Amino acid sequence: MSATPALYTGTIRVIDAEELHVAHNYHPLAVVIAKGEGVWVTDVEGKRYLDLLSAYSALNFGHRHPALLEAVNEQLERITLTSRAYHNDKLAGFASALARLCGKDLVLPMNTGAEAVETGIKVARAWAYRVKGVPQDAATVVVANGNFHGRTTTIVGFSDDPQARDDFGPYAPGFVSVPFGDAAAIEAAITPDTAAVLIEPIQGEAGVIVPPHGYLAAVREICTRNNVLLIADEIQSGLGRVGETFACDREDVVPDVYLLGKALGGGILPVSAVVADADVLGVIRPGEHGSTFGGNPLAAAVGLRVVELLETGELQRRAAALGLHLEERLGELVGHGVTAVRVAGLWAGVDIDPAVGTGRQVAERLLARGVLVKDTHGQTIRIAPPLVIRATELDWAVEQLRVVLAG
Ligand SMILES: *Cc1c(COP(=O)(O)O)cnc(C)c1O
Repeated sequence: MSATPALYTGTIRVIDAEELHVAHNYHPLAVVIAKGEGVWVTDVEGKRYLDLLSAYSALNFGHRHPALLEAVNEQLERITLTSRAYHNDKLAGFASALARLCGKDLVLPMNTGAEAVETGIKVARAWAYRVKGVPQDAATVVVANGNFHGRTTTIVGFSDDPQARDDFGPYAPGFVSVPFGDAAAIEAAITPDTAAVLIEPIQGEAGVIVPPHGYLAAVREICTRNNVLLIADEIQSGLGRVGETFACDREDVVPDVYLLGKALGGGILPVSAVVADADVLGVIRPGEHGSTFGGNPLAAAVGLRVVELLETGELQRRAAALGLHLEERLGELVGHGVTAVRVAGLWAGVDIDPAVGTGRQVAERLLARGVLVKDTHGQTIRIAPPLVIRATELDWAVEQLRVVLAG
């Protein structure tokens, strides 16, 4: 470490204090961020880093996007929280804009992604009993191996990641897991009691796993034919990341239910939503589901501005064009410290050759060169820059990766 002792002590002091007073449910990289703007963040020592993680795609629009800050600041002057016990003058505008973006009728606003997933499961079960006619408490949901849908007790119960799942049982029944990318396996798992198929169109946490082309369309067809809801968890894959508004758009697939979160809050506050047509989401009746903060006017103001940023399609086109560029540049690294690369828009999983080191070690070396990435599942690093990144910045970041891999 070449930093001056006084400043170095500053970083260490913050990290030590966190160790003492924050539960150890994360193992953060040794950087203490104090400021952010666009694709760049600055640490407490004044060192700048290019953010290639974007808070797991919650920062698709970058840090402190001016249009989003404007929406927040305007709303802060008016009102922030009402609860759904009353109407507020922002929720309807947000919901109608988001429903239009999704081509659906109704929005159920929540806060975190896991809440959107839980809500989607509740809606699917209620739909199964009230519309499809599944016998009480018999409804099942088909999920995919390698899934990541959040951290609540029900959700971790159908994860196959021991770190996410072990010692948190007993697990909720009613879930069947099949291999990801295999539509026939989904069909084989469907019974008359199946309420829904819940999948990520691209598995983010698993390492940006892109299913074979045709998978989503086949799953759509299977769900329709079997009267089963298709629930797409687009919490990480959606809202421009893959060069389309939704990852399902890559196969022109329209799910019955969209689960949205992360970037929906503009990187400012947690905003999530379940979006579906009235024949599905309409099954929920007053009093059956809710959230103290869901649909609050501040969140709605930010969410509306997020939808407006996406309505022009400009960011999606940008992500698509830059994504092709990223794919080409990362492809050049295969065989040079990289064993495989998977790219969808501005989203990439890069498998690191164990001879070079672990994903964590590569992330640490990139940190020292001013680039922030996060490893996942040992050998993979995930690259997901804010969609506002410039081509020159992207090239610079990939060049840092090339240098790190060259050792
Ligand atoms: C992050 C994520 C979630 C959970 O979102 P939280 O806001 O962390 O609860 C659910 N599904 C997917 C696909 C995610 O990437």
